[in-house]
Amino acid sequence: MILMTKVTGKKMLIGGKWVERDKTMDVFDPQDGTRITTVPRASVEDALYTIEQAKEGAAIAAKMPVHERIDILNKAADYVQNHREKFAQTIASEGSKTINEARGEASRCVQTLRISAEEARRINGETIPFDQMQGHEKRVGYYYRFPIGIVAAITPFNDPLNLVAHKVGPAIASGNAIIVKPATMTPLSALLLAEAFEEAGLPDKVLSVITGSGGEIGDTLVTHPAIRMVSFTGGLETGESIARKAGLKKISMELGSNSPVIVLEDADLEEAVESCVSGAFGAVGQNCLGVQRVYIEESAYEQFKENFVAKTKQYKVGDKKDEATDIGPLISEKEAIRIEEWVQEAIDKGAELLAGGKRDGAFYHPTVLTNVPSNCQIAHEEIFGPVVLLYTVKELEEAIELSNDVNYGLQAGIFTKNIDHAFAAIQHLDVGGIMVNDSSDYRIDGMPFGGVKGSGLGREGIKFAIQDMTEPKVVQFKLK
Ligand code: NAP
Repeated sequence: MILMTKVTGKKMLIGGKWVERDKTMDVFDPQDGTRITTVPRASVEDALYTIEQAKEGAAIAAKMPVHERIDILNKAADYVQNHREKFAQTIASEGSKTINEARGEASRCVQTLRISAEEARRINGETIPFDQMQGHEKRVGYYYRFPIGIVAAITPFNDPLNLVAHKVGPAIASGNAIIVKPATMTPLSALLLAEAFEEAGLPDKVLSVITGSGGEIGDTLVTHPAIRMVSFTGGLETGESIARKAGLKKISMELGSNSPVIVLEDADLEEAVESCVSGAFGAVGQNCLGVQRVYIEESAYEQFKENFVAKTKQYKVGDKKDEATDIGPLISEKEAIRIEEWVQEAIDKGAELLAGGKRDGAFYHPTVLTNVPSNCQIAHEEIFGPVVLLYTVKELEEAIELSNDVNYGLQAGIFTKNIDHAFAAIQHLDVGGIMVNDSSDYRIDGMPFGGVKGSGLGREGIKFAIQDMTEPKVVQFKLK
């Protein structure tokens, strides 16, 4: 039984109805701590009711012809495009991206939805040559892919719109129902995306966006047998706990990293510095692909370091809504304090601070460290903040060994003009993607994206998510 208590604030979307709750959660602007609004704090009963609604949604979604799915996805993309500034302002208010970064994310979301519309027409099967086996000459058949049913999508705060679109787009393209549980700190962008789909004519119950605490309703979504896939993006610890509980269902895990970039002496240093600085400090370093460790060949080290520090010092920290700002606040002061502590630990153990190292409330200045001992937390964990570590290495082999010596493996970069060195890195780096002559911080929405080791399981990138959200069904005809 769903209570319809009147409270002010945003509503959540359950089974085609926008509903309020008397229990709410505040949404703050991390820059100054002002309360933007409230959203309902969904209960376990809400989660169970949402799943019941999604069961009906799954039956509706599976019957939707592909041309209708394409039309709806394109209309939702048009809506985001036409209201791009509203989406960007929402991302920049509830999250920590600058307005320029938020506009970029809104545009990427349009792309993600359009790619989803295109991929909907390419969910193909194949004919099967049954006569490859003696005695099976009189058989013909094929397989096609069918939707799995209900996907539960659990998403993080750092790309509050496009990472939701990366789950909703392929789910709708492949004829599934989907329940989104956005991060508590950034639920508004996901709710706006739900509005886009409502305006686009998506049938009720196919998409629900349920706001609530992961600690309170997460288990219900993750363990419920009607949920056929948990598509999670977030931290390693949460991901591991979900994977342990999920049971017999599909899981897709897009987790964190502390990405390495290798810079060899023959590299274009100017280009390497430019990409590594923006790769380290974009989105205040709260980016799963962000550059955290740079391994520079000895002879290029001093020049690289000098240019890197000079470029870092040009970055402007300030009001995220000011178009001239490069770096806004962290998602919370608590996060900024954690980063400050990790940097201090490294300095206490002998690291040298080359730039930054300063905190003002939730703001942390772009920071460059060198000589960081391997027993510091920052040397092997994910910092998820604007801090980069520079190391000098004797040769490529050492750089590859150190790059791999962590429990993460999302993406990596190598700067070199030597094709043999580039291929050695491609072959030996344990990651899901290698960027040659670019930093780890490179992604387009239509490429396979995901990691190995503690960085995750499975791949997103529409086409690849669709594979996970569908199953092959074999059809065989026995002929006379
Ligand atoms: P997080 O703390 O792991 O939270 C992610 C989501 O999980 C939130 O919606 C959270 O809800 C929910 N959650 C928390 N506890 C849960 C539980 N017991 N059961 C089910 N769900 C639960 O991550 P975050 O701090 O938001 O995001 C940062 C992390 O995401 C970083 O590690 C980053 O590298 C990673 N990330 C990875 C990718 C990628 O594609 N590989 C992309 C972006 C970010 P609440 O907010 O209510 O706690």
